[in-house]
Amino acid sequence: MATEIHEIFVHCTATTPDWMLMRSAAEKVAEIDRWHKARGWAGFGYNELCDRDGSSAKGRPIGAQTAAVVGHNRNAVHLVLVGGRGSDASDAFSDHFTEAQREWLLARLAELKRKYPNATIRGHNEVAAKACPGFNVKDFMRQNPLPTAGAPKQVERKRISLLGIIKAIFGGQS
Ligand SMILES: [Zn+2]
Repeated sequence: MATEIHEIFVHCTATTPDWMLMRSAAEKVAEIDRWHKARGWAGFGYNELCDRDGSSAKGRPIGAQTAAVVGHNRNAVHLVLVGGRGSDASDAFSDHFTEAQREWLLARLAELKRKYPNATIRGHNEVAAKACPGFNVKDFMRQNPLPTAGAPKQVERKRISLLGIIKAIFGGQS
């Protein structure tokens, strides 16, 4: 049975833009895994990492326990963006991250929201005194609304035209 997901968190790696520049997203996951283990943690604690070029790699499977935010490691998905070193909680997304990362993040959030419509999208900094992910996720979501509004409009249009057909057949007099 699928785990219920209540929250979707956005994080950053707090690395410089040129960190492991020519390495793949999967190699970066492996490197962070080594760091976290060296600190005595359980390894790469997030579900997915998005690199500077918009490529991504998976960490822990969604539904498995994560090690990303104390008290939010069950029933949550944790996405981490490469970059964000020296960022502030109130910085703009584009101060520290790329357009490719914006596209990946919005596409992934839209997918996750379709799958878990009741999940709340949050930045790590909303639940802890941290800069991570280095921007205000609520503002970011207001500026980049997810494309979920398109579907109901189409259904509505179909209903209206169906009503039109019914009226045409039965000589609607409303
Ligand atoms: Zn974080």
